[in-house]
Amino acid sequence: MTASWVDGAEPGSDFPLQNLPLGIFSDDGGGRRAGVAIGDYILDLASAAELLDEGWRGDLALPVLNAWLARGPGDHAALRARLTELLGDEANRDAVELHLVGQSEATMHLPCLIGDYTDFYVGIHHATNVGKQFRPDQPLLPNYKYVPIGYHGRASSVRVSGEPVVRPAGQHKPPEAEAPEYGPSRRLDYELELGLWIGRGNALGEPIPIGRARDHIAGFCLLNDWSARDLQAWEYQPLGPFLAKNFLTSISPWVISPEALAPFRIAMPPRADGDPAPLPYLDDADDRANGGLSIQLEVTLTTAAMRDAGLAPHVLSRGSADAAMYWSAAQIVTHHSSNGCNLQPGDLIGTGTLSTAGDDGLGSLLEISRGGKAPIELASGETRSFLEDGDEVVMRAWCERDGAVRIGLGECTGRVVAGAG
Ligand code: MN
Repeated sequence: MTASWVDGAEPGSDFPLQNLPLGIFSDDGGGRRAGVAIGDYILDLASAAELLDEGWRGDLALPVLNAWLARGPGDHAALRARLTELLGDEANRDAVELHLVGQSEATMHLPCLIGDYTDFYVGIHHATNVGKQFRPDQPLLPNYKYVPIGYHGRASSVRVSGEPVVRPAGQHKPPEAEAPEYGPSRRLDYELELGLWIGRGNALGEPIPIGRARDHIAGFCLLNDWSARDLQAWEYQPLGPFLAKNFLTSISPWVISPEALAPFRIAMPPRADGDPAPLPYLDDADDRANGGLSIQLEVTLTTAAMRDAGLAPHVLSRGSADAAMYWSAAQIVTHHSSNGCNLQPGDLIGTGTLSTAGDDGLGSLLEISRGGKAPIELASGETRSFLEDGDEVVMRAWCERDGAVRIGLGECTGRVVAGAG
């Protein structure tokens, strides 16, 4: 079966039969429950339970996917096969159609109860661009090509796409000022990242070997690591990001499975001449050959004035994730657990900002506006170095190549509103 009978699932859409991402939704007909995106619809897995294996129903009836994701690749493949049959074979239409809910009628929620959120920094062009602003002669610190750098973020403020972005207040100190002041951030930014969902966890004290890491990744999403650059510049030494980051992290709602992404796996970009080889615990021939993800990324911006004037969104960046990632998803997971740290089902990991080597695909305004020195000009006549109240950032991602059906990751959006203070 190659195509679905559901409206909107035609090849070229985000959610054809080849995608089948899981998510958690609610609607007038009921509370939070699991569903799978197909075309313009969601197949309600709670109401369609009798069409599914009896052994799956308990976990799929929960309002979060943690238990289902923890089952690992075997059950995930079996569900995918069954859904392909139900949504691909016209003979099942009568039995299945009554369990479809229009996506426009549904509200999406976080797919998991997120115990921990970690953000990495594997986008080497982003790390280089940002490093240059602080250290023109040594943009990358000496550990970068040995260690997948990361920090522990905050799970409580992760929200699904659409959540308003309340401008954070905090301490900031302009270089010329003698002392910091407390007030609304004036350098509010976004960061374009991919998110990884941990499926099966590991026991405390038992690292995940690189050759097994992929079995622990249950899915992918888009992630926006909203960042207050003025707060960040003042607070980050010596312990790293804190209040500049943890006021909000937005994610796209659908969990895109590794199986859906399989046709778009490619080799990791070769390391530059003179770069060290990864240490053995991070090195794996199969990961080198297939650990890259050919995912196309796009970020657009609209201001309130642009929307009022009916102007098209301004494209801030277009680029591909694969060339941006110095470390693979598997290397991220293995490194995170390499000291025995236990990952748990439903943990969320950000890759770090994904910028291309060229200027077309820069994943933050900090890079696009050169730290504010080169404001962008918009069709409305406005300029932007950082985000103003009313600005809306929309991230989109999709995969396409000859010989495969395109799939989309969906959207991750957020509109900035003034803070309370
Ligand atoms: Mn980040």
